[in-house]
Amino acid sequence: MAQPLSFEAFLDAMRDEGVTVKVVGNAKNHNRKGHGAWGPVHGVMIHHTVTQGTDNSVELCRTGHMTLPGPLCHGVIDKAGVVHVVGYGRANHAGLGDDDVLRAVIAEGKLPAVNEANTDGNSRFYGFECINLGNNSDPWPEAQVEAIVRASAGLLRRHKWGKDGPTSVIGHKEWQPGKIDPRGPIGKKGGTALTMDAIRKRVAERLKHPASWSPGGSTGGGTYTVRKGDTLWSIAQAKLGSGARNTEIAKLNGLKDPAAISVGQTLKLPTK
Ligand SMILES: [Zn+2]
Repeated sequence: MAQPLSFEAFLDAMRDEGVTVKVVGNAKNHNRKGHGAWGPVHGVMIHHTVTQGTDNSVELCRTGHMTLPGPLCHGVIDKAGVVHVVGYGRANHAGLGDDDVLRAVIAEGKLPAVNEANTDGNSRFYGFECINLGNNSDPWPEAQVEAIVRASAGLLRRHKWGKDGPTSVIGHKEWQPGKIDPRGPIGKKGGTALTMDAIRKRVAERLKHPASWSPGGSTGGGTYTVRKGDTLWSIAQAKLGSGARNTEIAKLNGLKDPAAISVGQTLKLPTK
């Protein structure tokens, strides 16, 4: 059982893992308050949007539609791996699901097959909608999959979930009978199928490392979003283990004046 993170902690949980986060409009206070509870939270739910195009997908998830008012999730993960935060609090993403699944999520045990829709999930899960047509042929770029892993791991890390295996990250199809999301090939048409087991495995691996970890070094050192009070020195100290490496960050990002960094700015980090 856990109280939901504050909005700021929610953003930081993802940024700490090197995820690029964009806050859309008044996301902090955009929610379905008055239509049911928000919390206690127990896990993270992954969806696909059945749309294409970043701007219209983000806007749809923010405002919803006639029969289902927004927000339709907390974050929209685009194909480049950017998380667009559209709302915070209760959101219309999970719907009714299986109480046996919820118990397994809370216990972080093996997920049972889903066969009931008897429990409100919108109060219990953080929700990410990932831009994908959902037709089982639209590919999931590796950057998008990595963002799912990192955003989920960040929330699990903050909540101290996932110590015994991260069953607290589930797909919508594992929650509600009849749902098919998420699905599709990773990387390219005909690529390996995206599975929640594979996502959970990667989240588990990630949780063995510090939040700043970049797997395999292939993605370089990741990125960091500047926060209030940061200096290049403090960022280098925290992320690279040495404040003196501030000059490397300045060079990598083409900063003419290393003192002139601003809150919200995304910096590339050199590999360790
Ligand atoms: Zn869904």
